[in-house]
Amino acid sequence: MGYSDVQSRIDKACAAAKRARSDVTLVAVTKMRTPEEIGALISAGQKTFGENRVQDAEGKWPQIRAAHPDVKLHFIGHLQTNKAKDAVELFDVIETVDSERLAQALAAEMKKQNRNLPCFIQVNTGEEEQKGGVAPKDAPALFAACRAAGLDIRGLMCIPPADELPDLHFALLNKMANEMGLPELSMGMSADFERAIAFGASYIRIGTALFED
Ligand SMILES: *Cc1c(COP(=O)(O)O)cnc(C)c1O
Repeated sequence: MGYSDVQSRIDKACAAAKRARSDVTLVAVTKMRTPEEIGALISAGQKTFGENRVQDAEGKWPQIRAAHPDVKLHFIGHLQTNKAKDAVELFDVIETVDSERLAQALAAEMKKQNRNLPCFIQVNTGEEEQKGGVAPKDAPALFAACRAAGLDIRGLMCIPPADELPDLHFALLNKMANEMGLPELSMGMSADFERAIAFGASYIRIGTALFED
């Protein structure tokens, strides 16, 4: 099954990188997946999940969460400022803070709802126009603004360009996080999570590979 297969590949990649398995958290990406598919993963022991659209997540997660209160839900998509309220209500971690305006909207909502969610800054390491994320050179200033707003920034997140080897992007994100004093790195998907683990990923976001036979 996809899930046990992915787990053993993560084990191997951690061993090869001489890293503790407990340093790497699998975020199971369940966008477009049914509650039944998600339920099967929960039964298999999965506790951390990712969704990229607030509205889709609102359609299925409140019920799942009511039945499984220990499950954690990460937001990994582009977040519009006007969705900050709903995102803060439903999610446990926001991985895609990429502007000062969004940081301020999130901080205001968290205060209102008395929920202080851990966040990541998304960095557009490939400087792709169509992609979310702050440009690498602007990340330190955004980090400072997030801290001033009161956001609990834990690390950096990236999605490398689809048509490039990911290694340089993973290495860049690792270096930036070091320089900024941030401990967590969210990077690596189905096609490249072993490389991401080699470059220090602490969260890997995997969808497709979990659901392959
Ligand atoms: C869909 C998605 C993933 C998972 O991608 P797969 O290739 O299906 O593993 C990871 N991160 C983000 C931000 C995504 O939108």
